[in-house]
Amino acid sequence: MNDPQLIAKPPSGLTVKAFFEEVSPGKNVLIQALGRKASGPSTSWHMQVPAIQLHCDNEACQGIRYFEPKDTEYLRPTERKEHFLNFVCRNCKKSKKTYAFWSRLSEDEVNGELMKFGEYPPFGPPTPSRLITMIGGERDYFLKGRRAENQGLGIAAFAYYRRVVENQKTRIIDEIIRVAQKIGAPKEVTDDLNAARSETQFSRAVEVIKHGVPESLLIGGHNPVD
Ligand SMILES: [Zn+2]
Repeated sequence: MNDPQLIAKPPSGLTVKAFFEEVSPGKNVLIQALGRKASGPSTSWHMQVPAIQLHCDNEACQGIRYFEPKDTEYLRPTERKEHFLNFVCRNCKKSKKTYAFWSRLSEDEVNGELMKFGEYPPFGPPTPSRLITMIGGERDYFLKGRRAENQGLGIAAFAYYRRVVENQKTRIIDEIIRVAQKIGAPKEVTDDLNAARSETQFSRAVEVIKHGVPESLLIGGHNPVD
């Protein structure tokens, strides 16, 4: 009963699949079942790369799909090796994901370590295409913010998001001015809106428009930008 041989040793380390799907670049992680010794005339060690699950934003997919590795990667016990590996969506066969990483197979020739240098498209949750459309010209700032956030760089993310919000302000106010003119709002109202438009800070702009939003634009009696 107590024979230690019969007690299964819990596996330590992440799976290769989880590494590609979930680990952000720059982290050195222990991996279980990383390699396998291949039988043949010469000794070689293959990296065990399964299909991984990622979000595919191709029109035909628009969801989580399996991505297949396109190459066989070789490992060397105790030696660090650099890799560049592509995965392609099994469903649409169009979307591609590329990883740059290094590996080190342990002396046991099974487990090891992996670390990503980077990946493209960048690491992180998918951004809905509708959101991207709404953001318009601020797309790049938004995606940079998203990337900074995913890498734990909260303050950098905030700077990018703030830029997105400040720039959206002008678009929103322009829409309100357009409607205000259409419904023949008093001149003071459009003057206030134009003043708000030139405010650099979103919060101050909201303060300026507070009383200047035409009644027909109030949502349930409330200012839509307040
Ligand atoms: Zn696809």
